[in-house]
Amino acid sequence: MFDAPAPGPMFRCLAVASALSLLSSCADTPAQKAASAPLPQVSQPAPKVPVAPAQAAPAVMPAISFSAWRDDFRREALASGIDAATFDRAFAGITPDPSVINADRSQPEFTRPVWEYLEGAISPYRVRKGQALLAEHTATLDAIEQRFSVDREPLVAIWGMESSFGQFMGDKSVIRSLATLAYEGRRPAFAHAQLLAALQILQHGDIQPGSMLGSWAGAMGQTQFIPTTYNSHAVDFDGDGRRDIWNSSADALASAAHYLQASGWRKGQPAALQVQLPQGFDYAHADGDIRKPVSQWQALGVQLGPQDNGLAGEPASLLLPAGHRGPAFLVLDNFRAILKYNNSSSYALAVSLLGERFDERGQLTGSWPRDERPLSRSERVELQESLAAAGYNPGAADGIIGANTRKAIRVYQQRLGWPADGYPTLELLRQLRGGR
Ligand code: CA
Repeated sequence: MFDAPAPGPMFRCLAVASALSLLSSCADTPAQKAASAPLPQVSQPAPKVPVAPAQAAPAVMPAISFSAWRDDFRREALASGIDAATFDRAFAGITPDPSVINADRSQPEFTRPVWEYLEGAISPYRVRKGQALLAEHTATLDAIEQRFSVDREPLVAIWGMESSFGQFMGDKSVIRSLATLAYEGRRPAFAHAQLLAALQILQHGDIQPGSMLGSWAGAMGQTQFIPTTYNSHAVDFDGDGRRDIWNSSADALASAAHYLQASGWRKGQPAALQVQLPQGFDYAHADGDIRKPVSQWQALGVQLGPQDNGLAGEPASLLLPAGHRGPAFLVLDNFRAILKYNNSSSYALAVSLLGERFDERGQLTGSWPRDERPLSRSERVELQESLAAAGYNPGAADGIIGANTRKAIRVYQQRLGWPADGYPTLELLRQLRGGR
């Protein structure tokens, strides 16, 4: 899902709330919530819509017809202030889209290793293209930095990650996709709220229904905002009176900047620092719940790069994207701001490294454990079931390695005398299968 065609952000909060113990409502006050949330897992880029339990999938078609559902929804939309003409224009010819339901129900069995994900995200093409666009849009980015106090490199990196700089925005009717999800999907409340927000956007005149295109989950335009995020954070920056995140790169970049600003962005600060860990380091510190000032990490022997001065008092967590055998990072407040955009540590790391790469920085010094493959979904479920059977309380066996599962892994690793990095490996699963 993180290949060139854009993933949509903005679903992320709802998306992984249950698994990652992030607070569930997100669009309103991102800044405060980012600060307290644990870091999400790394190997699983966040799904873009709320994760619905598998058993909630309807076995049969909904009890009412689409047109009956639409008539009910029309009454509700009109009662909430949508005018009849807007509604009828938006819904003209709209039928359920089976491809949306299929996309909603697909759960990939295999996960790409984080290093492959990062290599795709930080491709030479994307770096060159981003550099060219930074030069091309200098004046606009100057003005955006001035107004929103968000650095241009991560902004352009997000633009590249979300829509390949506006080249892949999704080609599905947002009204149709959201109507499908509201009518037949497993997350009717989410889709319902997004659909109402989409109608508000149409009523406001920002975009015509036929041009309101996006991903199967309703993520729209160059920023891949879902409609509620659009309504709270999209801005008209080129001054034509419309917030056009589809066709105006100035509007799109400024809207993303506005969202990062609201998520607590701190201009001039990095998001993630590559660090070296000392021999004998206690990997149990690599836990998104643990935040210490950079100076305290240094006191534990964590070594920063020579250019990373002046951050001693900044709170940071230690991130090991591939466990103790891979590179280590201290992640700062801006990392958490990026997570508000898309709640995946892989994504936030990619944005951070890609933004640095535009400046000829961001080269990784550590090496990845390329001989390890990520556990498949069914292996992750088995791992959780085995940890539970052995009394380690990993939480629900949902195949998502969240905070509870990582804690359970850590305790088990400690019992084995292994490095307690909380990272799920095949070796660990084999150990559990052996019943030791
Ligand atoms: Ca505009």
